[in-house]
Amino acid sequence: MKKKFKIVVKTELCKRCSICEYICPNSVFQMKDSFLEIYDERCKGCNICELICPDCAISVIREEKNETIYSRK
Ligand code: SF4
Ligand code: SF4
Repeated sequence: MKKKFKIVVKTELCKRCSICEYICPNSVFQMKDSFLEIYDERCKGCNICELICPDCAISVIREEKNETIYSRK
């Protein structure tokens, strides 16, 4: 099945706080040895991660339109 959402994390902004890992209802983020693994095929586009990231490091992009569905900037 085609992915509906793409998650982009700006690694230069990410402080590896793990908040996204705890908050995502679909287990998209997994912190492994201080490296954030992303399983965006599980994403349902709820946008919580983008809103909650304290460093504004996450973008949720709708794949078919290749557009950001929400931006704080
Ligand atoms: S919430 Fe933001 S800063 Fe924290 S680990 Fe996730 S992407 Fe990085
Ligand atoms: S948009 Fe929702 S489902 Fe997708 S990664 Fe963020 S918190 Fe998880």
